[in-house]
Amino acid sequence: MIGDPVRHSLSPALHNAAFAHLGLDWTYVAFEVPAGGGAGAVAAMRALGIDGLSVTMPLKAEAAEACDELSPAAAMLGAVNCVRRSADRLIGENTDGAGFLRSLRTQAGVDPAGLRTVVLGAGGAARAVIVALATEGAPVTVVNRSPDAAARAVGVGGAAAEATGAPAGLVTVGGPEAVRNADVVVNATPLGMTEGDSLPVDPALLQGVQIVADLIYRPERTPLLAAAAQAGAVTLNGVGMLLYQAAEQFRMWTGRDAPVRAMGAAVGLDIAG
Ligand code: NAP
Repeated sequence: MIGDPVRHSLSPALHNAAFAHLGLDWTYVAFEVPAGGGAGAVAAMRALGIDGLSVTMPLKAEAAEACDELSPAAAMLGAVNCVRRSADRLIGENTDGAGFLRSLRTQAGVDPAGLRTVVLGAGGAARAVIVALATEGAPVTVVNRSPDAAARAVGVGGAAAEATGAPAGLVTVGGPEAVRNADVVVNATPLGMTEGDSLPVDPALLQGVQIVADLIYRPERTPLLAAAAQAGAVTLNGVGMLLYQAAEQFRMWTGRDAPVRAMGAAVGLDIAG
């Protein structure tokens, strides 16, 4: 993997546990590559014959520029979190949205098609979730501190939805009040990671929301999830998305289904599979 910082990343432990579990003679290492080094690192992947690369901040856009081809999700997001090799071509992928959807489906038992969703935040993770939900036919309202970022995220999500034949207007900008009418609320801001953070939305608005997902995985139970549970919602933290996006990368590189439970256990995360 490449990115900066990567020193405390869980990805090497996740992937190496999967290789060990399946007895594959592969290894996964992290290289600290600061901004500006993405293209060189992707070229090194090609030169060295490396079969898979994870890409994290701040290199996701640079890596997208350096690949030979992009998957539809990576192209829409302009961000690559994973590079795979197909013969001599390097294909840029983005597995964050697929990871989120698998978490929603397998852990909360929910198919998002037609559900009214609200995404809090409009950064990289939010955009991946917005595109994933919109592509599945879920109306998405984007609620964000900066209106400009919200508008850009709506543009990306709306284009993704329309590419699937969905009518225009599936993805819109809204205010926090939109939470009141939502079936699913996703926190994609960092609020809740640090003790003393304010909640990303007024918990009084959560009454009647079916599912509240927080992309944060440390702490496992954020104040938002605690409030959502009190309001009677099913809650989901970011562990599932973290593991399932890695599992999708693993499958792309090795052609094998990832042993998700063993991967989670390696980093102290309990996940059913
Ligand atoms: P990012 O690109 O920096 O975006 C952060 C978003 O949060 C922006 O929309 C920003 O609003 C908003 N925000 C930041 N501080 C805020 C505050 N004090 N009040 C209100 N809004 C605030 O970050 P990211 O990469 O999308 O990551 C977002 C969260 O998702 C992080 O907690 C990260 O750990 C988590 N994440 C989880 C996974 C997983 O696998 N579970 C994967 C990726 C990310 P502005 O536009 O106004 O700045």
